[in-house]
Amino acid sequence: MAKNIYRGPSRTLMEYSLLPSHSTPETNIDQIDLSTPLVFWEEAKDKFSLRLPLVSAAMQSVSGVRMAIELTKLGGTSFIFCSQPIPEQAEMIRRIKSHKAGFVKPQTVYTDTLIKDVHKIREEKGFSTFPVIDKKRKLLGFLNKYDYDPYQHSKLKAIDRMSPLSEFEVGVNITDLKKANSVLMESHQHVLPIVDDESKLLYLVFRKDIQDHLNNPKQVVDENKRLIAVAAINTHDYKERVKALVQAGADVLAVDTSDGHTSYQQETLNWIEKNYPKIPIIGGNIITADGFRFLVDAGAAAVKVGMGGGSICITQEQKGTGRGLATSIIKVAEARDEYYKKTGKYIPVIADGGIVTAKDIVVALALGADYVMMGRYFARMYESPPEKVVINNRVMKPYWGEGSKRAQNWKKARYNQGKFVEGVEGFVEYAGRLRNNIDEVITKIKATMSTCGVKNIAELHKQAELEIVSRLSIREGKPHDVYLPGEGTKRDYYAREWGE
Ligand code: IMP
Repeated sequence: MAKNIYRGPSRTLMEYSLLPSHSTPETNIDQIDLSTPLVFWEEAKDKFSLRLPLVSAAMQSVSGVRMAIELTKLGGTSFIFCSQPIPEQAEMIRRIKSHKAGFVKPQTVYTDTLIKDVHKIREEKGFSTFPVIDKKRKLLGFLNKYDYDPYQHSKLKAIDRMSPLSEFEVGVNITDLKKANSVLMESHQHVLPIVDDESKLLYLVFRKDIQDHLNNPKQVVDENKRLIAVAAINTHDYKERVKALVQAGADVLAVDTSDGHTSYQQETLNWIEKNYPKIPIIGGNIITADGFRFLVDAGAAAVKVGMGGGSICITQEQKGTGRGLATSIIKVAEARDEYYKKTGKYIPVIADGGIVTAKDIVVALALGADYVMMGRYFARMYESPPEKVVINNRVMKPYWGEGSKRAQNWKKARYNQGKFVEGVEGFVEYAGRLRNNIDEVITKIKATMSTCGVKNIAELHKQAELEIVSRLSIREGKPHDVYLPGEGTKRDYYAREWGE
């Protein structure tokens, strides 16, 4: 006989509906604030606060540099996948951290670097402005993409084609970004070099970054105005990997395992807490109250919840373990609230796997999640790493699970050491740029919160009222008893073919 047999079924998000409450002008859509803590970290609450409750999953087909930069600018963030060699993941983190936002440590070239080599770096890394320095780091000029032709000037040196520093306005020892910006605004340049008293190059400040900053008021940045970067790690090569990721600038680490209630995860969390006390670490995945206490005791600063619900996941089928995401969130959030009462430490809960609609997101938040992780949703965007493909005249993007054969080909990291697959490979319909899609989801979340009479996620946690919906009421919530264009048949409310 089993230790526990719970009689009721576990519930999924789509089985819940929210009840309306008293809305006021203060809970209008434009008043609603979706800020939420990324991790529990008392020393730097602002740095570790998301402005949108959305993160993209640590998956090869979802979270690369392009996704991380765009989503973090919009107010969420990405978990950079660890199913890749350590140097490659570290390079991704480095690229996110050096992306922009204020003082940029630039890629420099020496006076005697050949133009053909400069051009090679430009092609590899995408930079178009190179400061030219001497061996003592003294800044002598700039080599811009318009200063040379890669064929005609290939054998010349940087110094032969650069525009000399005398043509540029220079900032000396400026450390305040506002001041640097105002000097740049007055100049006719697209870039302001900042040097020390000996003319040694310190940083560059780009005009386009100022504009970018204005366009992205919600971006999540560190104390130096660089985008934050979150890196996934596994429980096998973590000692080596964490060192490389932290050196590359990772702000937060997240253990990426399908089952986090294990001694391996405990050892990993303990080790990081001891060796990197300044780096918050997210544990997971768990689906029980015991799992929550286990991870938090081991040092987790946030926990990821969910097993078996992902759109590409076949864990429940293969192994018979898992739980509906709604029940998982409820159980873990209860344990979290209890822990908060006892200790005063508020550990964020991340709902992960199977979230499809804006309604799912807001139900997950209402049940106690602080933000949600999604794979499928983001995989459809321009910013996800895979190339588009056309299938049956429809533009698609490949999307595969980290436990699928395709991801496991890298190394047997996340799932059952690669002995059998726990994920599938498929396609999702291409949706275009993230920026053009995300507004709709955010507006819907805010519209629901407005109807519920709350103005932020903390209030939603305290005041939301939810109810299980019957299958009939789900049916009632869709169009019925009308002819829909293209469908030809009327969906009769009582029709048998709808099944029950
Ligand atoms: P989605 O948003 O429904 O597509 O779910 C994404 C989540 O599924 C990820 O954040 C992981 O937690 C989980 N996941 C990723 N790959 C696999 C897999 O191969 N098998 C099972 N779960 C997976």
